[in-house]
Amino acid sequence: MLAHYAEDRAAYNGAVVPPLFQNSLFTFESWDAIDEAFSDPSNHCIYTRGNNPTVLLAEAKIAKLAGGDRARLFGSGMAAISASLFHFLKPNDHVIAIKNIYGPTCNFLTYLNEKMNIETTFVLGETVEEFEAAITEKTKVIYLESPSSLLFNLQDIEAITTLAKARGIRTIIDNTCCTPLFQKPLALGVDLEVHSCSKYLGGHSDLVAGVVIGNEKELLEIGKTESLLFGGKMAPFEAWLLVRSLRTLPIRMQKHQESGMKVAHFLNEHPCVRNVWYPGLKDFPQYELGKKQMSGYSGLMSFELATSDLKQIKDFVNHLEIFKIGISWGGHESLVFAPIISTLKELPEEQFEQLGIFPGVIRISVGLEGCDDLIRDLDQALSCIK
Ligand SMILES: *Cc1c(COP(=O)(O)O)cnc(C)c1O
Repeated sequence: MLAHYAEDRAAYNGAVVPPLFQNSLFTFESWDAIDEAFSDPSNHCIYTRGNNPTVLLAEAKIAKLAGGDRARLFGSGMAAISASLFHFLKPNDHVIAIKNIYGPTCNFLTYLNEKMNIETTFVLGETVEEFEAAITEKTKVIYLESPSSLLFNLQDIEAITTLAKARGIRTIIDNTCCTPLFQKPLALGVDLEVHSCSKYLGGHSDLVAGVVIGNEKELLEIGKTESLLFGGKMAPFEAWLLVRSLRTLPIRMQKHQESGMKVAHFLNEHPCVRNVWYPGLKDFPQYELGKKQMSGYSGLMSFELATSDLKQIKDFVNHLEIFKIGISWGGHESLVFAPIISTLKELPEEQFEQLGIFPGVIRISVGLEGCDDLIRDLDQALSCIK
């Protein structure tokens, strides 16, 4: 259904692929016509920083998929995240966020504290009581990411939004990991859902983008302020690529899930692997919560090698052939990354370990290659661990 949603083949001369409107401005036939457009700029295409038909098409499809009224696309996931936080916050407000949050989001919250005295309290977030205990009279936003980056901690979305609504607190969730296909936070009461479209939504490792999804009122306001004035709008070509990507999202996610599950089981049973973090494994500590609020799992997981010898850990990573070394994830290609490489440059080692991340923790993104080949690749590289 979504493959055709909001498309108008007749207007495209029958073209099966919607056209790319690669233009910065739109001309009008008369004074009255442009005057009418200016009386409702949110629903007209006047200038591409505001609206563009290719971007509007991608926004309509994503909003529909997530069950929101409207979506707004941005030039990156971070542009969408910073816009959504700015939207709800004023100087001296307070935020509650989760500990294992995406690194740059954490850095943005630090920046908000330095610039505007907006303090953030970080909680592990596995129980609703932790959020309740962290609420102060200044708390304006609870910021979630479920599953979280790296260790996939889950938060009980419905319980937390119920608490937040009762206290007049707004909620934002980064739903990048699940995609709007496998988790519907808006239906569970979240105010704004944000994604990096650079991951599974884009899926081909050829675009960087972000999206905010929510109700009509909130999204129209964001459109007029954080989107139009900060100006971090997504470009038409990226939107055109994204429309291409959305067409295959369900089959890509199905394959990521199928291969992810097989790889997670393989790693879980391997003697050289100490621990696997993958919400789809039955022995994942929050497996039941995952089943309740997620309808699928991705190809993203972390595991800890059964050694703390850095040479062996490096050898393992260097011996992988199909899994390429790189950050990001969610594309067609399988990737491997050792978080210690980047995180130790930002955090002292004790803090890193407090988060439950040890030198042997490796993150992989299981791509769309043949799953048997991927398992064989991991198996031969694991022979580096003695
Ligand atoms: C990558 C990522 C982002 C940031 O997205 P960009 O498109 O790189 O700006 C935000 N949240 C999560 C969970 C991510 O993985």
